[in-house]
Amino acid sequence: MPGQEHIFHPDFVVAPYWWDKHPPADHNDRMPRTVDIAIVGSGYCGLAAGLALARQGWRVATFDAHRIGEGASTRNGGMVSGGLKLPAGLRRKVGQARYEKIQHDSVESFRYFESFLAEEGFDVDYQRTGRFAGAHSAGAYARQVKQAKVLNGDMGLTARMVPSDRQDEEIGSRFYHGGMVVEECGGIDPAKYHHALRHAYGAAGGSLHSRNPVREIIRDKGKFLVQTARGAVAANHVFVATNGYGDGLVPYFQRRVIPITTFVIATEPLPADLIKDINPKGRMLVDTKRILNWYRITPCGRRIIFGGRAKFSDVDERESAKSLYQLMCKIWPQVRDYRISHAWKGNVAFTFDHLPHIDTHQGIHYAGGCQGAGIAMATYLGHRTAMRLLHPDHPSCGFENLGFPSRPLYYGKPWFIPPLASYYKLLDRVERWTGW
Ligand SMILES: Cc1cc2nc3c(=O)[nH]c(=O)nc-3n(C[C@H](O)[C@H](O)[C@H](O)COP(=O)(O)OP(=O)(O)OC[C@H]3O[C@@H](n4cnc5c(N)ncnc54)[C@H](O)[C@@H]3O)c2cc1C
Repeated sequence: MPGQEHIFHPDFVVAPYWWDKHPPADHNDRMPRTVDIAIVGSGYCGLAAGLALARQGWRVATFDAHRIGEGASTRNGGMVSGGLKLPAGLRRKVGQARYEKIQHDSVESFRYFESFLAEEGFDVDYQRTGRFAGAHSAGAYARQVKQAKVLNGDMGLTARMVPSDRQDEEIGSRFYHGGMVVEECGGIDPAKYHHALRHAYGAAGGSLHSRNPVREIIRDKGKFLVQTARGAVAANHVFVATNGYGDGLVPYFQRRVIPITTFVIATEPLPADLIKDINPKGRMLVDTKRILNWYRITPCGRRIIFGGRAKFSDVDERESAKSLYQLMCKIWPQVRDYRISHAWKGNVAFTFDHLPHIDTHQGIHYAGGCQGAGIAMATYLGHRTAMRLLHPDHPSCGFENLGFPSRPLYYGKPWFIPPLASYYKLLDRVERWTGW
């Protein structure tokens, strides 16, 4: 997309906006010889588990292939939600009791997250803002009406429909056909949250090892020898928390997780009255498309963060920024005169059954597959994994031992995503044109 260079601010950088204040850190504690648990991956999931275990006196070491927190946990949009969109047919497949457990835990992840922040006293710019999901067609609005009934009923959330003639109460845009507000949603500074979590983990006695990838996990008489780039550690337990950044360390998990790259832009600061016009209640914003966009105002109240799957191949951040900018200006033509200050990308993790998983394979523990919404969920999965280790008799959560499906010919490289995403994009367009 040549000829669009004016959309970049002179100080434009390819890096998450959040890293301006809280970049991922290098942290190299002394390599232990023996630990109770070796954790692979230093995002929310690994650190939440490590924190709970270290506080119970476990010797914990966390390894990351990059800087601490350099995966999705410092790159995301900071939009905190609970309540997974459960796949059609799930009740039939897993039975009523498991279905209810999954519903419960998907909402519980959000409740747990809010109480975790409060108990730890973490200042992460959290605000419970609620979320407005704009309907991309009249048919999508009708589907949201049904969805709102489920959210208000079985899931115990607070959802409310907003018809198109009252849409300007929620968003300064004519792009949508009305939408749905869910109150149980909020915004944080995600890197500030990771920073706080990292400090709590360190204060509890856990060690951190950045730029030190785990290369092999060898089972030895019920225990493990964990080979890292800087030496080996003997561990009683191993927890793999690599979500969308798995590098093939445990092929069993690699075959069950689908990493997908997501792109994000941040704008330069906008005038306060313009911000009030485009997002009067400071909501977290999302839409109903299959290839969806999500966006919000930064905690300082001045910039837009706008994300989505702008391209289906792994293009560079500057190219994808141009597409995201066009999409943003379709929704909010009022922001056309403002430029992009940051662009970045990161990996989310999907699974074949569209559910997160806590699993154990050949003694190695795993948690992940947050379906693109893992601030609350990854924290919760880490916490639940710690509970599983500390109290094996404790009632399990809905995502444990679900059976973790893979597909023939899938080895961790999602070759099917570009054609599938193009098909979904076409369906989104057809629905918008026809009103389905
Ligand atoms: C662009 C983007 C926007 C998002 N927006 C939102 C949002 O608004 N709201 C929301 O709820 N969620 C959002 N998410 C999802 C959320 O960020 C993730 O679900 C969550 O951060 C996952 O945390 P994690 O700890 O499981 O994994 P990560 O934070 O991804 O950490 C995994 C770590 O594993 C490390 N690793 C991999 N292999 C090895 C190895 N062999 N040895 C050592 N280390 C290894 C990686 O380096 C990485 O640091 C978004 C994600 C992205 C990418």
